[in-house]
Amino acid sequence: MNLILFGPPAAGKGTQAKRLVDQRGMVQLSTGDMLRAAIASGSEMGQTVKGVLDRGDLVTDEIVIALIEDRLPEAEAAGGAIFDGFPRTVPQARALDAMLAKRGQKIDSVLRLKVDEPALIERISKRFAEQGRPDDNPEVFVTRLAAYNAQTAPLLPYYREQGKLTELDGMASVETVAASIDAALSVVA
Ligand code: AMP
Repeated sequence: MNLILFGPPAAGKGTQAKRLVDQRGMVQLSTGDMLRAAIASGSEMGQTVKGVLDRGDLVTDEIVIALIEDRLPEAEAAGGAIFDGFPRTVPQARALDAMLAKRGQKIDSVLRLKVDEPALIERISKRFAEQGRPDDNPEVFVTRLAAYNAQTAPLLPYYREQGKLTELDGMASVETVAASIDAALSVVA
């Protein structure tokens, strides 16, 4: 099964993805984690994208599509992928569908975690204080939210029209969100 955890930054996608990895043995494919690892390694690509992440903008579709394509065989061997933070643009979503189709696979479910903006801002200030991730600082976070609203939210109709979208209340506790994810996945073939 391949699923997308969809939502703005700080909606809880990473937390829920990690639980699904632990419980179902699926592979979490987080482009944000991959980009941060590239930056930490000092690779050429990492140096190219560092400024983009620091500003809170999106990196090019080509870069993230290539990162995901590299990891698809591993996810397939594990029985499925949880896409976390990818796709973030319509071209990325189309590329993902095409890459999966080439492998005889598809996206089975898109779970949207709905969280309102004041709650996101509160969560991110807490995460910034606890973890100090540079792009969680309040000014950069405004840019990240704007990128979500302008470039990522338009993916919702794309998946709704395919009948794959389930909307979940991401304001609930971690456990309640986890239970609603399990309920949504139990009806996916
Ligand atoms: P995340 O950890 O998912 O919040 O991602 C952190 C940052 O990495 C984002 O603010 C973007 O700069 C970059 N990024 C992660 N995933 C993508 C993506 N699918 N497309 C473009 N940029 C991305």
